[in-house]
Amino acid sequence: MSFDAKSPSPSATGWNETALAVCRTPLMSVKCPSCDEIAVFGEWNLLNADSRETIVEMHCQACGVRETRQFALPDGVPVCWPLSRFPLVAEAMEKEAAGFAARVQQHVKAMPAAVFATHPLWDEAKWSATTYQWHPTSDAPPVMGLVFENVEAGLEIFREAERQMHNEDQFDEIRISIIEGVVPGQENRPGYSVHLCADPDALCSHATLEEFVVDPNIVPFLGQWNRHYPIPGTPLLLPRFKQEFDTHKEFMLAPTVRRPSGKLYMKPELGIIKKAIVFRKLSDITSPDDIDAAAALLPQLITPPG
Ligand SMILES: [Zn+2]
Repeated sequence: MSFDAKSPSPSATGWNETALAVCRTPLMSVKCPSCDEIAVFGEWNLLNADSRETIVEMHCQACGVRETRQFALPDGVPVCWPLSRFPLVAEAMEKEAAGFAARVQQHVKAMPAAVFATHPLWDEAKWSATTYQWHPTSDAPPVMGLVFENVEAGLEIFREAERQMHNEDQFDEIRISIIEGVVPGQENRPGYSVHLCADPDALCSHATLEEFVVDPNIVPFLGQWNRHYPIPGTPLLLPRFKQEFDTHKEFMLAPTVRRPSGKLYMKPELGIIKKAIVFRKLSDITSPDDIDAAAALLPQLITPPG
């Protein structure tokens, strides 16, 4: 056998394979190329959405050796581990998600929910708060109001939906989730997150009909987010909304504007009737594959008021 100076040393090849094994089994330790103990754990995050370039940091708990490898993440592997690295992936995905939203606008015309959830005016509209109203004697379903700082842009998003959906999300293709739970670093400011996006299954099937492929890694980055901090000392609105939704199995999603007086006015004529909403706890979100995974990074993007 001839000697080839270019071939990597056995331990270098070993660590490349270890990096791959670590990504495939995030919860289990794998064999260490240095000491042969099954004691290597890894952490990783995607660096580039297009090339899937990923950095993997490994640590052997037996011999203490640390190694880092960079390679293209194989399909079927979560974009990061653990979940706390999700903000780094969000950074890598940001540009890609914007381009993808633009393609959704062009292609997925058969799915008004996707057009609504990725409307280019969301940035300008500045969804700043979420509020609720209900009938005093519960004779009608409750309303969830999205408060926009830029009234005209916010109303235009709903006008477009009205033209296409005629005031009803018939197949519940707009997914809305409310995620409650204290986030690390904000233990003294209770709040909850509201996530609005196109239902991923519906989006994928509509996209297929239009011969347009949806990268599942990008879906969690396509929606709109609001983190709500109830004003201390004021009555909580969310528990009552949940109770009213439970009674009627229906609610209306409506744009809401703030008058110069500070009062909020809902616009039910542009509202969308919905029969589904997801209520969940932040502590139940443990995987970067979770559609609501970005709830884990919101506190770093939004500073609570006052
Ligand atoms: Zn070792």
